[in-house]
Amino acid sequence: MIPFVDLKKQYHSIKSEIDEAISSVIHNSAFIGGEVVKKFEEAFASQIGVKRVVACANGTDSLYVILKMLGVGVGDEVITSAYSWISSSETISQTGAKPVFCDIEEDFYTMDSSMIESLITSRTKAIVAVHIHGQMCDMDRLMKIAEKHNIFIIEDCAQAHLSSFNGQIAGTFGVAGSFSFYPGKNLGAYGDAGCMVTNDDNLSRLLRMYANHGALVKHQHEMEGINSRMDGMQAAILNVKLKYLEQWTQLRIQKANYYLSKLKNISEIKLPLVRQNSRHSFHLFVIKAKKRDGLMQHLKSKGIESAIHYPKALPNLMAYKYLDLNANDFPVASSQEEFLLSLPLYPEIEYDQIDIACDEIKKFYS
Ligand SMILES: *Cc1c(COP(=O)(O)O)cnc(C)c1O
Repeated sequence: MIPFVDLKKQYHSIKSEIDEAISSVIHNSAFIGGEVVKKFEEAFASQIGVKRVVACANGTDSLYVILKMLGVGVGDEVITSAYSWISSSETISQTGAKPVFCDIEEDFYTMDSSMIESLITSRTKAIVAVHIHGQMCDMDRLMKIAEKHNIFIIEDCAQAHLSSFNGQIAGTFGVAGSFSFYPGKNLGAYGDAGCMVTNDDNLSRLLRMYANHGALVKHQHEMEGINSRMDGMQAAILNVKLKYLEQWTQLRIQKANYYLSKLKNISEIKLPLVRQNSRHSFHLFVIKAKKRDGLMQHLKSKGIESAIHYPKALPNLMAYKYLDLNANDFPVASSQEEFLLSLPLYPEIEYDQIDIACDEIKKFYS
């Protein structure tokens, strides 16, 4: 049996530290916010090289709060990728603005920066750049476009902890970056958690305020906000796990490279590529496979789990029917829907397990 992810295995590798961290939170009754959350914010800031980190409840709220505090709202347009998890676009709609989808690059799955300028109008306020699977967007090009048109770049780093481009870590390019610590993410809590990162002091103050009912000091509500805080238990767990993040990222990359070496020369599948001068953190190892459903079924029959990220491109979801979009306007994102398959990849997966998965893939096509 090869599970798609194995969170239990990771827990057992750091069990005593985690158990102690959790019991200390209970012992101190530090359930929401407090010192342990502050400690995480500081540690994460220093790990990725950013001035401010504001913890919040999840990686969807973090996108919403950033957009909202940048003043995005009714009448505005925000460009994002046609291929992502729905948080990247639903948070744009939540502010009252309109999501505008950009098709993706065949090789990298990230938004096609050569198409972005054709989507910019006088209403465009921002771009939500998604580093999907852990693959960096073309940040050189994106930053130039943003500067030229005076629009914000917000990085959705939910799948890209410690990914980097030209040596600079994801989340530090745009005006702000958004992270998710959903349990299955590369840095995962034991429940929901997320954070916002920025080098802008004034913006960080607004983000913190809005995520805490519009107040920095208890009962001094400078505005209405929302309730999106990180709880102490999650912060304590993240403080333990953050110390291992670099090591775990290296293991993901090594194991992804092992898959790449084992699966080369199979004409029916297209393997993931890594953008030049960048580090791919391999949150997901996604192949494009002919007869995808048959392959998935074959693997399942051998006890090997796989998954589909994502069965539909965002513009093709029922949720966006109201925008009256055409799948042909997003040819790359739409045409790959039937071929995508994510193979099991996590720091703890054994090389033997990868051998078994790859042998079964070869058997299926031979
Ligand atoms: C997971 C994810 C999110 C949302 O994070 P949550 O913590 O689950 O709210 C946003 N964007 C992308 C690309 C994601 O993968």
